[in-house]
Amino acid sequence: MKRFALIGDPVAHSHSPQLHRAALQQHEIEGEFVSVKVTSAQLPQWMKYEAPQFDGIAVTSPHKENVLEFIHQESEATQKIGAVNTIFQKKGQLIGTNTDSIGALRALQTAVNPNGLRVLVLGAGGAARAIIFALKMTRSDITVWNRTAPRAEKLAQEFKIQYEKNLEDINPDDYNVIINATLVGMNEWKSLLSENFWQPHHTAMDVIYTPLETKFLADATQSGAKTITGDLMLVYQAVEQFRIWHGEEIDPDIMAEAFLKE
Ligand code: NAP
Repeated sequence: MKRFALIGDPVAHSHSPQLHRAALQQHEIEGEFVSVKVTSAQLPQWMKYEAPQFDGIAVTSPHKENVLEFIHQESEATQKIGAVNTIFQKKGQLIGTNTDSIGALRALQTAVNPNGLRVLVLGAGGAARAIIFALKMTRSDITVWNRTAPRAEKLAQEFKIQYEKNLEDINPDDYNVIINATLVGMNEWKSLLSENFWQPHHTAMDVIYTPLETKFLADATQSGAKTITGDLMLVYQAVEQFRIWHGEEIDPDIMAEAFLKE
C-alpha cells in the first residue's frame, strides 16, 4: 500500500488529504493519505526518521521553507521559489518540488490566457513567488506590490519584473489581471483594493479559499469583472502532485467536488 502525508502546523484545516483520497479512490489505487501535525521543533527528527517511510509528502505552513535543509535534491521550481510543497522519493533520495506555481497558472488559465496581459500581483511571500515564477513562463507583463515595499523591490529585481510602491497610486487602467497573494481576506471581510478600483475588463484571482468568495472577489464581481476562486489553485496544484506521485492524470473535477464536500 502506498503511503502519503501532509505535514504542517496546524494541518486540521487543510483540504489536501480529502482531494488526494478522492483521487486515489477514483484510480483504485490502494493508498492512505494522512495529516500529521509536525511542529517546527519536531521537523528535523520527523524528516530524518518518518519522511523516508512515505511515498510522497505534501508540505504546508510553516515548513515550506524550513524543509529545504532536510531534502536531498531540489527541483528548478523549488530553487527559484525558495519553497517546497511536494516531496517525492527517487532511489531513496527525498526530492523537493513546488506545484503551487503550476497550480496558480492552470487556475488563471481557466479564465484568461495571460499572454500579452498586464498582471498585478499583490504580495511578496511564498504564494506570490510561486505565482510570479509561473507567470514568467508566459508572455505576460508582471508587476508586484507588497505592504513591506522593500520586499517587492527585491523580488522585482530577482525576477526582472516591475513593482508598485504605493497601493493608492495604482491605476486600474494599467492592469488586466489582479491577483491577491496576501493573507488579507482570510477569515475576514477585507480587501486591499477599494470597491471602485474594479472595472469590467479586469480578471481577479484570489489565493485565499476561506471564504471561497472573498471581499476582493465580491467587489470585482459587482463591477462585472471575471473572478477565479482560491480553490482552483489548490485543486490544480494537487492535480500536479498526483501526476508526480502516481504518474497518472486525475480529472480536476474529481478533486474540486471533494473540496466542496467538506
Ligand atoms: P507568506 O509567505 O507568509 O506571505 C504573506 C504575504 O501576505 C506577504 O506578502 C505579507 O506582506 C502579506 N500580508 C500579510 N498581512 C497583510 C496585511 N494586513 N496587509 C497587506 N499584506 C499583508 O504566506 P504565503 O505562503 O504566501 O500564503 C499567502 C496566502 O496564500 C495564505 O492565505 C495561504 O493559505 C494562501 N495559499 C493558497 C494556496 C492555494 O492553493 N490556493 C497555495 C499557497 C498559499 P508583508 O511582506 O508586508 O508581511
